[in-house]
Amino acid sequence: MEIKSCENHVGHALDVFVGNEKDFPIMDKLSEEEQLSTKCEYCDERAEYLVGNK
Ligand SMILES: [Zn+2]
Repeated sequence: MEIKSCENHVGHALDVFVGNEKDFPIMDKLSEEEQLSTKCEYCDERAEYLVGNK
């Protein structure tokens, strides 16, 4: 599972991840280029963070 989110929703993304995966999430910052082409899963802001477990 991977969730991309803006700064405002990264806390929510971490909660959702832990709830779904029962695993410790890893939070990565997206590169500038990725940020420009990626939207937050929870709003229309640019995604800044990637929450996942890889
Ligand atoms: Zn958001």
